[in-house]
Amino acid sequence: MGCCDLFKMEEQIRFINMHADFLHMDIKDGNYVKTFSIGPDFLNYIKDFVTKPMDAHLMVKYPQNFLEMCADAGAAYITPHTDCIASDAFVTLNKIKSLNCKAGIAMNPSSSINEIKYYIHLLDKVTVMTVDAGYAGQKFITQMYDKIRDLAKLRKEMGLNFLIEADGSINGEFYGPLYEAGADMVVLGPPALWNKDPDIKKAWSIMRQEIKDSKRLV
Ligand code: MG
Repeated sequence: MGCCDLFKMEEQIRFINMHADFLHMDIKDGNYVKTFSIGPDFLNYIKDFVTKPMDAHLMVKYPQNFLEMCADAGAAYITPHTDCIASDAFVTLNKIKSLNCKAGIAMNPSSSINEIKYYIHLLDKVTVMTVDAGYAGQKFITQMYDKIRDLAKLRKEMGLNFLIEADGSINGEFYGPLYEAGADMVVLGPPALWNKDPDIKKAWSIMRQEIKDSKRLV
């Protein structure tokens, strides 16, 4: 939702809330990543107004400091990065659950599935970053198909049911291979949706057509 046009924000939030399955909220601290975006206050502001689950993707160095804030602000999912909870993964994930939120984890492209294997059973969602978090304009990293495939295989072997999400520089050409690899959901950033047209309705219909063209309907 950080991709919204500030001057058309209400219209765009209403539209996305009506059409998308989730509202993906990039929260950045200028520290873990060198950019800034919306914060938990933004979720709090729209929480009584939206009906779809909000996912707080925490691109912040100390996600532990954001958990209560995000839960109070109405986040349904809270998704920190693997390297930011390496020293307190169980405490952090259990804390998210104790706040009645679903626990996600985001993995940068360089991180391996091994890093999450001991707490994978606690997860409701795994976000596979298909570019490095926090930097716009990168090229989609196609090796992430393998990571998604391995995760989907592991999920099946272990009888788990976490969602697999792909996030980063996704556009029409990647939907087919992503779903084929085992992704359940994709984050629609600027190349997938917002840059298609200044009118969100037109942008959405172009994106839908691209999904149809990729021979998958979602
Ligand atoms: Mg994100």
